[in-house]
Amino acid sequence: MKPIELKSLQYRWAGAPRLILDIDTFELRANEKVMLRGPSGSGKSTLLSAIAGVIDIPKASVFVAGTDVGGLSGRDRDRFRVDHIGLIFQVFNLLPWLSAIENVLLPCRFSTLRREKVAAEPKTTAIRLLNELGLTDPKTLNGPASALSIGQQQRVAAARALIGAPEVVLADEPTSALDEEAKDAFVELLLRECNASGSSLLFVSHDRTLEKHFDRTVELGVLNSGTK
Ligand code: ADP
Ligand code: MG
Repeated sequence: MKPIELKSLQYRWAGAPRLILDIDTFELRANEKVMLRGPSGSGKSTLLSAIAGVIDIPKASVFVAGTDVGGLSGRDRDRFRVDHIGLIFQVFNLLPWLSAIENVLLPCRFSTLRREKVAAEPKTTAIRLLNELGLTDPKTLNGPASALSIGQQQRVAAARALIGAPEVVLADEPTSALDEEAKDAFVELLLRECNASGSSLLFVSHDRTLEKHFDRTVELGVLNSGTK
């Protein structure tokens, strides 16, 4: 089953003069790691929101793991998202009063499917993922997320996206706050963990230096040929 399939996806923000998304076809294949590039304001975050079912999209335009996301009711979309998609945002949206470990466990709290895919005890898996992403200090793992550095928050957000092996991981410019060396290291860790969990990755960035890590790069402007 294809992790992501787009068919004639069109989207216009309310009041906007033209379509921001007008994509004939796009596929993300199983285990594929794709970088999505495009200038600021070109609709990259809008596309991720469409795939994640955060915005209303037409029926039969977005399929994630074989499910027609636009055909689901709002509630079913929320459930589907937590079951099948790991999200890493530009700002990491950690719950500041929870610990790093508790933040990573959130998808398992909200999704039986994700919890069942975790072979070991969920907490053990959360700690393993955080360790693999380079967070090992018990104080860092157990203290409030509000005390973490940006780079640490990024890793916690990645572990939270990866726990319970979702079919698809969507990352929206997660490296924009990191320095050059930290960027490469973060992307390498993220790719390794996606491979380990069998998740496909759609990674938004405008940073060409990261391109070498991915199976292919897609330009939103080329995908979006309908509007140009
Ligand atoms: P990118 O992520 O490539 O920088 P975005 O998808 O964030 O681009 O935005 C693309 C366009 O959609 C912009 O013109 C922006 O103003 C518009 N847009 C984004 N979010 C909203 C929103 N919530 N409401 C209305 N317009 C929006
Ligand atoms: Mg954006």
